[in-house]
Amino acid sequence: MIYKPEELRYVNFLWDDAVANQLDPVERLRYRSNILGSDQRITNTGGGNTSSKLIEKDPLTGEEVDVLWVKGSGGDLRTSTRSNFASLYMDKFLSLREIYNRAEVKGVKTPVEDAMVEMYRQCVFNLNPTASSIDTPLHGLLPYWHVDHTHPISVIAIASSQDQERLTHEIYGDEIGYTPWQRPGYDLALKMSEAAAQNPHLKGFVIGQHGLINWANDDKACYELSLSLIEQAARYIEQHEKGAQTFGGQKYTSPDPHQRQDILIKLLPRLRGMVSQANRFIGTVHITNQVLQFVNSFDAPRLAEIGGSTPDFFLRTKIKPLYVDWDPQNETYENLLEKLESGLAHYKADYTAYYETCKHPNSPPMRDPNPTVILIPGLGMLAWGKNKSESRVTAEFYSLTIEVMRAAEAISHYQGLTRQEAFDIEYWELEEAKLKRLPPEKELARNVVVVVGAGSGIGKAIAHRVAREGAHVVCVDVNTEAAQKTAQELTDIYGAGIGVGGTGISGCGPAIGLSADITRRDSVRSMFEQVVLAYGGIDNIIVTAGIFVPPDMQGHIADDKWPLTYAINVTGGYIVADEARKIWQAQGLKGSLVLTSSVNAVVSKSGSLAYDTSKAAVNHLVHELAIELAPLVRVNGLAPATVVEGSSMFPRPRVISSLHKYGIAFDESESDEALREKLAHFYAQRTLTKSPVTLADQAEMAYLLSSNKFSKTTGQIVNVDGGLPDAFLR
Ligand SMILES: [Zn+2]
Repeated sequence: MIYKPEELRYVNFLWDDAVANQLDPVERLRYRSNILGSDQRITNTGGGNTSSKLIEKDPLTGEEVDVLWVKGSGGDLRTSTRSNFASLYMDKFLSLREIYNRAEVKGVKTPVEDAMVEMYRQCVFNLNPTASSIDTPLHGLLPYWHVDHTHPISVIAIASSQDQERLTHEIYGDEIGYTPWQRPGYDLALKMSEAAAQNPHLKGFVIGQHGLINWANDDKACYELSLSLIEQAARYIEQHEKGAQTFGGQKYTSPDPHQRQDILIKLLPRLRGMVSQANRFIGTVHITNQVLQFVNSFDAPRLAEIGGSTPDFFLRTKIKPLYVDWDPQNETYENLLEKLESGLAHYKADYTAYYETCKHPNSPPMRDPNPTVILIPGLGMLAWGKNKSESRVTAEFYSLTIEVMRAAEAISHYQGLTRQEAFDIEYWELEEAKLKRLPPEKELARNVVVVVGAGSGIGKAIAHRVAREGAHVVCVDVNTEAAQKTAQELTDIYGAGIGVGGTGISGCGPAIGLSADITRRDSVRSMFEQVVLAYGGIDNIIVTAGIFVPPDMQGHIADDKWPLTYAINVTGGYIVADEARKIWQAQGLKGSLVLTSSVNAVVSKSGSLAYDTSKAAVNHLVHELAIELAPLVRVNGLAPATVVEGSSMFPRPRVISSLHKYGIAFDESESDEALREKLAHFYAQRTLTKSPVTLADQAEMAYLLSSNKFSKTTGQIVNVDGGLPDAFLR
């Protein structure tokens, strides 16, 4: 049956004729895909695909031809643009069936089935570069114009129930067929298309342990059918909801949110260290009422052990999460740590056994055996991934799995995919090939870099530089707006990532902007707490925040400006290091700290006593912190000189007074930057390299000192000054 838009309670009807009717047929497919993907109850990030068979003009012959437009490999329905759809000549695509049939051995998981994926490239219409996905035959072989394949929670719940076939018939009658789980590919598509051809009353299939596929010869009708089928399943589930008895009832109660946050702040760096021994991970905290209801329940340990139900999810969530049976009311934090240690050891042994038992002679080598999802009563879900986007998707997928389990347990008993089928997806050669095609990871990938002073000047340049190397960047500045502006610039460049997991600040993208006054320990501490909640820990810190109080004609500043100069330039760096130390030690992972000094630290001259002596203290602070924080953290100093470009330390009056002082001709009407450039060129002439020192030069050195390229260098001050003999090391 088809529900009217106003009758739908479990999905939103978003189709708007006024929008759709203005679009060309391919854009209508894009539109249909976006509105399907915008609802998590319909499909997950990156999950599902849609298609339309359209009549196009052949670019060579000018004749009308049938073309299959289908969501390509790697795209996402919610965010798809036209460029995410592959297009294939239907006649060429259909002719591939002969190639498949000619193979001596054919069927699911045979070499010819995997080889078909390469053949789709032979059918490309109009040089479209978008790669076809493994689901292409599912769409191409079905004898209908429009096809939606989605992963709706309510339908996956049916498909993950022990009596999935009976439930499919009970809910949908004979409109919708049932097909048991089979790894997606050509064989499944053949079976389904043959069944559809023989049973013209069929409007779709529930695919066991997987999802829904349905079709129509009109695109809007296909969309309406998708929504109605999902609604029908959701209504059936609603009638069987177990209320307080969901997941067997609640075994534990959660601590209050403040207490929970305190525990998480302590726990996250420890946990990040535990799971990151082979590869560093970025964390996402995901705490919703649904997640808490699950982790606090009697059934959580049993259900968590069953693992994922649908392959799309557990490629990220792994076959199962680590559930830690900790009693938040009656056990201590130390108990939790012990249980995590032993739980992780057990998990890794289990994963290794799973790999050894299920592997084939040609299977790719075992991947990182650490869990990507950790569930703790009272605390919620902690997800891990190689970057923020991945860890957010992981959190999203396991929270969807929880929804699926809740619904499946309401109507039947939840059932996972068998371990062998799970393995054959996780270690599928086509998946391995995809992984191998990924570009190598960047130098600071998997790293969280905190840049203090990122609101302007050198700090801002460094934030941009390390982001280019794949770092997650925490932009810190005493000026909140400036910090957030830099973070926003980075997010605009690199994108917020896919996935909708993560609660509070943990739902962030690759960069965040935070304020901190580094002269105050409490301010620095609460800044780091936010970083830990956002990403799970820290790796590298670069401090560029500093102050230069302009001296009078004699080179002096007021007495009360001395403590201010020292508080920001010296004590601030120490406080940042000292607060970060706890996080570094909890993680037990190598890190780095770069403090900003100045060549003035070693060049004796008159004119800026307070500033120069404070920078001399920074140099020694670098030496002593290098000793204190060894062997975990390398500490180095960056000593810039006369970076005039974009520097807050060179306001217009200072530049003009310097130009006067050095007798450089200029015009009052010239812009700030033009005047700065004149001064920079004058300074450059005093250096050995005769080149102005730029922000980019400083940012490059700060990045290099933070990276593994300088992994054997600590306790050093590196000048980036164009070459000033007075500042040479003695
Ligand atoms: Zn699917």
